[in-house]
Amino acid sequence: MRAVVFEKFGERAEVREVPDPAPAPHGVVVRVEATGLCRSDWHGWMGHDPDIRLPHVPGHELAGVVEAVGADVQDRRPGDRVTVPFVCACGTCASCAAGDHQVCERQTQPGFTHWGSFAEYVALDHAAVNLVDVPDELSFATAAGLGCRFATAFRAVVAQGRVAAGEWVAVHGCGGVGLSAVMIAAASGARVVAVDVSPAALDLARTFGAAHCLNASEVPDVAAAVRELTGGGAHLSLDALGSPVTCAASVGGLRRRGRHVQVGLLPQDPVVPMGRVIGLELELLGSHGMAAHAYPRMLETVRAGVLRPDLLVTSTITLDAAPAALDAMGAAPGAGVTIIEPWA
Ligand SMILES: [Zn+2]
Ligand SMILES: [Zn+2]
Repeated sequence: MRAVVFEKFGERAEVREVPDPAPAPHGVVVRVEATGLCRSDWHGWMGHDPDIRLPHVPGHELAGVVEAVGADVQDRRPGDRVTVPFVCACGTCASCAAGDHQVCERQTQPGFTHWGSFAEYVALDHAAVNLVDVPDELSFATAAGLGCRFATAFRAVVAQGRVAAGEWVAVHGCGGVGLSAVMIAAASGARVVAVDVSPAALDLARTFGAAHCLNASEVPDVAAAVRELTGGGAHLSLDALGSPVTCAASVGGLRRRGRHVQVGLLPQDPVVPMGRVIGLELELLGSHGMAAHAYPRMLETVRAGVLRPDLLVTSTITLDAAPAALDAMGAAPGAGVTIIEPWA
């Protein structure tokens, strides 16, 4: 099969022929119809993820069709339209038994712990636990984004963030996950302040329901600006980019007893103003994908048209264009979500 391969961290990947994957006894091989280009792929390529062994194929947000089924898999057939959470759970550890598949103790992640979906085929583990059916009316391009950014934003805003109608929600960083969070928070009845340095990203945030858009490059103190716009601070704030600056601005822009959710990956742990966390009784929360069993609630809102992940897809590229796009992700990520179609 053809795949995007890199031999060294930070060195331009190339598209070349590699052996087709085979399914594990409990797994499947999926023919990749669409796969999202996510900032986490860039982090992996840059060497920020200790799980990655070289040479490597990135890609963790995918949708496609089951091609081959492992010997122990009962309930899957070639031809099934599927997607997966980027955290593939084992289904049997203590966390999985508690329903917390997104923090599984023996998790695998395509594109990190093994070769991912910037390829014509990808192997996925524990199919019975992780595969999610993609409804016929949902395109593969739209479904791909659900595997990481949209599902992560959904869990961050709804489950971890406990958003409520009428609350102020600040979203720092309006890439794929941030724009998803803006859309989900606005659809939940929250008033959203979107923060980014890109006018194009802020325009999209406004389209997706942000009440206020703050260009962080134009205000001297983003946290103070959020507190002013929200009459004392956001109830819920997300760092959807993952940088010391956006993390600090998110925590600094909260009101008393506010909730910060860290969504964006950080190459290094940031300095968090813990005095403010104590004095204002802030909550600091993490969000790490979303379990497959939590997808139906999200898919129902998508099916009903309340949430429109299709609107986040702003560009579609071929596998051959992926190495340069991965490269460009570090400098100036484009507004919206880029989807790679390996068979296009
Ligand atoms: Zn991702
Ligand atoms: Zn597990």
